This record gives sequence, C-alpha cells and structure tokens, in this order.
Amino acid sequence: MAETLDPGARAAAEQKARKAARDAARKNEASDEPVGKKGIVPPWERGAEGIALVDTHAHIDGEDFEADREETLSRAKRAGVVAVVTFGDTMEASARVVKLAASYEPVFAGVGVHPENAFPFTREDDDRLAAWTKEKDVVAIGEIGLDYYWEKDEDKRAMQRKMFVRQLALARDLDLPVCIHDREAHGDLMTILKTEGRKNRGVIHCFSGSWEMAKELLKLGWLLGFDGPLTYKNAAKLPEIIEKAPADRILVETDCPYLSPLPYRGKRNEPAYVRITAERAAEIRGESLADFAAQTTKNACEIYGLKVGI
Ligand SMILES: [Zn+2]
Repeated sequence: MAETLDPGARAAAEQKARKAARDAARKNEASDEPVGKKGIVPPWERGAEGIALVDTHAHIDGEDFEADREETLSRAKRAGVVAVVTFGDTMEASARVVKLAASYEPVFAGVGVHPENAFPFTREDDDRLAAWTKEKDVVAIGEIGLDYYWEKDEDKRAMQRKMFVRQLALARDLDLPVCIHDREAHGDLMTILKTEGRKNRGVIHCFSGSWEMAKELLKLGWLLGFDGPLTYKNAAKLPEIIEKAPADRILVETDCPYLSPLPYRGKRNEPAYVRITAERAAEIRGESLADFAAQTTKNACEIYGLKVGI
C-alpha cells in the first residue's frame, strides 16, 4: 500500500506514525513517584526572586500546547524562566516556531529538520530555512542531528547524515549556532563533528553520552544541554558529567513536551519545569540555584545571542 503514496505523503505518514510511537512511549513511561502524593509545590509557586533561567530547548509549537500556550509561558515566567528557545523539527514546525518567536516576547526560535523526519533536502529547503533565520528572534539552526534509536534502516540513516551535514553547512554560511540531537549515534556524530562540523558551534542537547565523549565535545568547543533525565533514579552518568563539566559549557533545557523531570515524569513537560532540572544540577554541583541559573543563562545568551530582560 505504502508504495502507491507519493514520497511527500509517505514521509508525512511515516512522520505521523513516529510521533504516535513517541507519544505512546512518553505516556507509558513509568513514573518514579506519583505526582501530588508528597504535596509537591509546582515550580511557579516556589518564588522566582533572583532566579533567571532559560529553557534552551523546547517544542511549544505543537498541539500539546494548543489549548494553554499563553498560560504555559506565564507559569514559566513565574518559575523564573526569562526566555524559551523553541525548535522546529520539520519544515512545518519551523514555520510555526518563527511565528511564535515573533509573537511572544520571551520566545526565541531555531529552525531545522530533526533526523527522525529526514527527507532528501533540496536547495529550495536550504533557502526556506535561510529566509526564516532573518525573522525576529530566530537564533539558531536546529533541531538537527542523528537518531539511530528510532531509525534502524541503513539507507534512512544515510539520509539523516546527509541532511545533518547539509544543515551544518547552512549554519556555517549563516554564521549561526546549531542545536544537535544525538540518540545512539555517538560514533557517527563525533566523526561528522570532527570533519564537516569542525567549524560549527553550538549545543549537543539532551546529552546522553559518556564523560569521555563529553570531554571530547568540550575540547571541540561544544556546550552540553541537560534535561529532566538528570532527576531520574536511573540518571546513569549524567550527575557525574554535570558535576565535572566546566560551568561555562552547561545549559539546562526541557525538550518539552517530552522528558518531564520528576515528579512529573510521564506527563506533559513544559518550560517551567526547567527549574526542577536546574535545582537538581545546582545541588549536584554544590551551587545555589541563583548562581547556577545566572551562569547557565549567561551561557545561553552567549551561544544563542539572546537579549533577555532580567
Ligand atoms: Zn528536541
């Protein structure tokens, strides 16, 4: 049946199926602790005086936020979040995030195509992305990268690599930072970053590698983004990595609507929850939340060129 669809329709159908699988995976995640049982105070009720955080990686363009986008941003503000960088993961989503950046004062945008949605990129696609980067508060090319967890097909992985390399080149042409997704593709990612990507700059978001890999990336000049999994009991190497990483190379992010921190794991994530990840990170590093927030917000402003009112 699928063969009878034209390539565009087939890509759209595949994309929809992958989103459904990802949504189902999120809903089925076992929560380590049920929400509410311990009377958890939501981040927007903890007071935000002296706290200025940036959610450096979000996806607030989709239908998950259709009903309450304004309230979501207002909750984030009350939690001390002064800016949100929202990323496109398809051409359609990129068009949407450009509009959000123009419409909401604390929102900045990155445009790009996520590896899960890889397609044969054309010159026209390059031009569309480039044109969007000239719009208000569009600050990066992303989310781009490699995902071998969801993609097992070798031809499609090759297409991901091609599209990734092409978007890295575009970012260099435009002198913009990139935001990179890497899931179970560490070897190919490092190879590409050391060759085609050696003159790019930006962030490896939701870092999931080892401390050895982190050290290599830091040496190459990259920043590392940390999300909700830092708060999980099976956070694996993340606490060690965030403890050892230099203060000026750390960013905090939500990747909402995915990857909610505890105690919201399995529920919809939102920018306000970046505070929970930041609190955990500050605790691990033995710093105050205010200091950790100030440093990571400075990092975010420098790499993405954000102008935020603090
Ligand atoms: Zn993302």
